[in-house]
Amino acid sequence: MMSSTSCCNPKELASAKLAPALSGAPDQVAPAHHAAGRPTGPTADLLVVGDIVTNNPASPTAEAMAISGGKIIGIGSRADVEGLVTPDTTTLKPGGFILPGLIDPHMHIWTSLLTYPDIDLAHEVCPTLDDATAAIKAAVAKAPKGQPVCFKNFDPSLYPGEPVLTRTILDQIAPDNPVLVWNASGHFMYVNSLMFQAAGITDQTPDPPGGTFQRVDGKMTGVVGEPPAEQLILKGLPQPNMADVATYIRQILTACAARGVTSVREAATGALAGPKELALLHQLNGQARFPVRVSTAQFAVLPGHTPTEVAAMWKAAGVTPFSGDEMLRADAWKVVSDGSNQGRSGYFLQPYLGEDNGGKSDYTPETLRAALKAGLDDGWQVMVHTNGDAAVEFVLEAFEELLPAYGQHDLRHRLEHCSFTMDDQLTRMAAVGLSPSFLMNHLYYWGAAFRDTILGPQRTGRLDRVASAYKAGLRPSLHSDYNVTEVHPLLSARTAVLRQTKADGQVINAAECATPEQALAAITTNAAWQIHADDRGSLEVGKDADFGIANGNPWGSQPDGWADIAFDATYVGGEQAWQR
Ligand SMILES: [Zn+2]
Repeated sequence: MMSSTSCCNPKELASAKLAPALSGAPDQVAPAHHAAGRPTGPTADLLVVGDIVTNNPASPTAEAMAISGGKIIGIGSRADVEGLVTPDTTTLKPGGFILPGLIDPHMHIWTSLLTYPDIDLAHEVCPTLDDATAAIKAAVAKAPKGQPVCFKNFDPSLYPGEPVLTRTILDQIAPDNPVLVWNASGHFMYVNSLMFQAAGITDQTPDPPGGTFQRVDGKMTGVVGEPPAEQLILKGLPQPNMADVATYIRQILTACAARGVTSVREAATGALAGPKELALLHQLNGQARFPVRVSTAQFAVLPGHTPTEVAAMWKAAGVTPFSGDEMLRADAWKVVSDGSNQGRSGYFLQPYLGEDNGGKSDYTPETLRAALKAGLDDGWQVMVHTNGDAAVEFVLEAFEELLPAYGQHDLRHRLEHCSFTMDDQLTRMAAVGLSPSFLMNHLYYWGAAFRDTILGPQRTGRLDRVASAYKAGLRPSLHSDYNVTEVHPLLSARTAVLRQTKADGQVINAAECATPEQALAAITTNAAWQIHADDRGSLEVGKDADFGIANGNPWGSQPDGWADIAFDATYVGGEQAWQR
């Protein structure tokens, strides 16, 4: 059950849900500058001793690392750093391996809040339909009578026969609580009778324009389609307040840290509420330092405004390229050119299997150029969501035309997902100065579906071409696009090397397998370079002391075990950021 066109706007749903919380957010950003009181000096305030893995090919391992003011001032043997240690130096001797902090260069805090903290019914968590219904039953049993309970990521396309959760089924397993289950695509939700009642919707309620309440013989089935109808259901739920939102954001970032991540890029900041989102992040980071560093990509589109007006709005809020502080920095300008491939709304040169639809872009060549130019004119790094091969072509042509006029700047413009590419596109990306960031676990989770039902084997071979990107001279990174997939860089890196689908373990085009070194660079040094954080991604003198303590070393072990490596703690700027 998939929608064939891209007509939805989940951002508007998230915006409505978060409106009360965000209305109290400040309008101007006020960075906290936590590091200002801790300048780097000639001697170490922290000495880390243990199995250090540097990710520096010149000297891959070390036994001691000296840190001052959050920076590495010495690394090597114990003797190498002896001279930097004073009686005031604190020594840290963790068990396990000390690894460079991992980097997720494209995830979403804000849009993820639409379904946060709903209970996860993803196929990964509930491999059978019975598991999913049992999870609903168990969660409802724990909730007080009458309290709404929400679930997310239910994906019927991954269960035999594509079963649907009807109102009748949900009434049976949840007779005393309003229940809402999000389909993984976001295009559908399934609700029970009490949820309809809470939202004030009856069999007589008309379908809103662009949305449907599925009915049989005039009776609602509980299947609700598309945001305009979903919006009416959400009115039956309490909205989170600012304290709730603060808690959720911290939980999302903490989950990143638990995967060894010390830096992320929030890839659509302001898409729901403009600069207030960034201002609120600064306020929260000021109250207590975030567990990971956050780089933000300012969203180019706000309803009712031209991109130029949106750019002016960011500037007026004090948000300019690389403004902020060491924990939270505004780095990029974000444009979305097409939809989602598994939602059959990515923009392709050829139609989807069994359809005459090949997706589309919501932009015309002119409006796309205007959106890119608004960011380029203000000196932003521009990152553009391109999923299908036609979207890559559409955006690449625009950059080829626009970029020469801006001269030689090291802004490292990016194509996001860059999921399906032709050979010449990768070469042209290198020539014009664009680098790709791949949503690598597209292949792991949806690779089999792309191959068998959505795109066919031929095209699916051109998914996430990490090896070819390197051959073309590009510096690719890997990302999660959370909450599309979980933040788990070591799983992404494993997929880049093995290219096996989760469904059947089949390899999708072995010629595109990355080497272990290439895959690990894509979640460390390349990702750091792409978020303009050249001082991260490896442990070397002069770089940030961002590291994790792990029970394994991916640089010294086989890729099939990488995803099982567990972290005990992370440090950001030499200070503990998270502990298990
Ligand atoms: Zn994204």
